[in-house]
Amino acid sequence: MVIEKLDYGKDLILEIEKVCKRRNIKTGWFNAIGALKNVTYGFYDQKLKEYKKFLHKNPCEITSCIGNVSILEDKIFIHAHINFADEKGNVKGGHLYKGDIFAAEVVISPYDKILERKFDEITGLKLWDSGEK
Ligand code: ZN
Repeated sequence: MVIEKLDYGKDLILEIEKVCKRRNIKTGWFNAIGALKNVTYGFYDQKLKEYKKFLHKNPCEITSCIGNVSILEDKIFIHAHINFADEKGNVKGGHLYKGDIFAAEVVISPYDKILERKFDEITGLKLWDSGEK
C-alpha cells in the first residue's frame, strides 16, 4: 500500500498519476481525501455516449474520491470519481477530470496483475479488457 500527501496547487489526477509512475504502479485501486480549490467533473450520457462537463469554480471538500489505475494505449491511466461538498454542505459528484489541490492525501493499493483498457462497443467507453472472474 502506498500513502502520500499530494502537492498544493497541483492537479489531483496528474499528481496521482505521478505517484503511480514514481512507485511503478501500473494497476491498482485508490482513494483520496482533502480539499480542492475547484473541480471539473462529468456525467456520461448513456444515450449520446458522451460526457457532459461541469466546472465547480469554488473551494470544496473532497467527501469521497475513489478510482483505479490501469493501462490505456501503453500508458498509465487514472480513472477517478469524486463527491465534493461546497461551503453550504451541498454535495455533487461524478467522473473526475481535474481539480486544483488545496490539500490531498491518497492511499493506493497496487494490484499484481496488469489491466488494460480497450474500446467497448456497447457503452462507448474504454473499459478493462480483462478482470478477475
Ligand atoms: Zn468515470
